Amino acid sequence: MQGTGNPGIVMAGGARPLGSGRTQRLFSWAQHGAWLIRGGRVVDPSQHLDHVADLLVVAGRVAGIGPGLAAPDGTAVFDAQGLVVAPGLIDVHVHLRDPGFPEKETLETGAAAAAAGGFTAICCMPNTEPPLDAPERIADVVTRSRHLPVRVYPIGTISRGRQGLELADLEGMAEAGAIGFSDDGDSTRDSQVMRAALAWSARSGRPIMAHCEDRALAAGGVMHEGEVSRELGLPGIPAAAEEIILMRDLELARLTGGWLHVLHLTTARGRRLVRAAKVEGIRVTAEVTPHHLLLSHEWVAGRRRFAGEAEVIIGPCPDPNAKVNPPLRTELDAVDLLAGLRDGSIDVVATDHAPHSERDKPADLARAAFGMVGLELALPLMLRLVARGELTLLEAIDFLSTRPSVLFGLPGGTLRPGSPADVVVFDPEAPWQVERATLVSRSCNTPLLGMRLQGRAVLTMVDGKVVYVDTDAVARRAGP
Ligand SMILES: [Zn+2]
Repeated sequence: MQGTGNPGIVMAGGARPLGSGRTQRLFSWAQHGAWLIRGGRVVDPSQHLDHVADLLVVAGRVAGIGPGLAAPDGTAVFDAQGLVVAPGLIDVHVHLRDPGFPEKETLETGAAAAAAGGFTAICCMPNTEPPLDAPERIADVVTRSRHLPVRVYPIGTISRGRQGLELADLEGMAEAGAIGFSDDGDSTRDSQVMRAALAWSARSGRPIMAHCEDRALAAGGVMHEGEVSRELGLPGIPAAAEEIILMRDLELARLTGGWLHVLHLTTARGRRLVRAAKVEGIRVTAEVTPHHLLLSHEWVAGRRRFAGEAEVIIGPCPDPNAKVNPPLRTELDAVDLLAGLRDGSIDVVATDHAPHSERDKPADLARAAFGMVGLELALPLMLRLVARGELTLLEAIDFLSTRPSVLFGLPGGTLRPGSPADVVVFDPEAPWQVERATLVSRSCNTPLLGMRLQGRAVLTMVDGKVVYVDTDAVARRAGP
């Protein structure tokens, strides 16, 4: 065996060493057709696997999992001792701002951020400019996504122009490649349009993904309405603004038999409503974001304390990066949402990655945009819950990969032999600081800025091709 120019990786069968230098190095990472990821902790919820093993990838597919696998000649061997090897993460709720807002994110920068966060497939929301509300706009995203490092699936609007008043061409958009439909950013204003969308869902089996927010009740609000908004003297968004529309959309799902997917659930009462609807047989699924599981409205006041933990770190007050829609709620809500993941009320974790430029986030909360980036923070935040013993690693990967894949019919989510090799290798303990320079996304709007987290992707692979590698982490592991 000899070196390849890639630190920490050797070639089986005496293959020629590849070039050195950062560019060549990255190039050579992408070249290998066969990989043996050796000695990692393989965690695959689809097979209830959680043990140390080797993973063999040949010709873009998983070829085997087991102890002491032999590497055929020419296989690149990656030492994964001490690392976790899992199916690549899948995010069903991402804003790529493309077309329309290249200063915030593009398909390219968003896909790169996804790969760096350990994601191998992402679904992008249609609140772009123009919105993705017609078959040709969906087709455009599909075409432009073909050469991206991760799989990108567009979501079409429910209503024309995302105005909430007239049903869009759902059938045409589905044929063009839309995997679901959403007026995310707003609720679908006209209940008749929402009914028609859900009725179509009942016939087609496609999800209607609802952002639940009563426009009039939420108008002017910049954060959760409660003791912190009163303390800061800021206009609030009551929990009822979310719950009222959630109740409407659950009733419309009952009426039509359509599939309602509830985006970013944030309240304890909302969780109970979803749970009760499931018990009654309404076809509903729900997602929660890592920030609603771990952050609370205290963060808007610069009191950075993770839900369920004691330590407080002082941040800016008010913090425009903690302004997000739906807003960060109370700690009781956060703790309840975690219980909702455990008891099956909530199905998946999704980031609602919502990049904004610094200009869009002035200190004046009334003028700051809603949203925070999430693609590179989801893994460390979920690993925080694992480290605290709130979730097992198998459960965390299930919510971030296997379930989104099964629910939305997306490739990945499994390391079963024969399946496409969409893989993430991560160091669950690697410490890092959240900064502009350590994030790949074009935007860095997150209230976690400046904080130290643990856990990062070391290598991300889509279809057996390495699409991201943290060469510094690999070099550190290989030693001097
Ligand atoms: Zn969203």
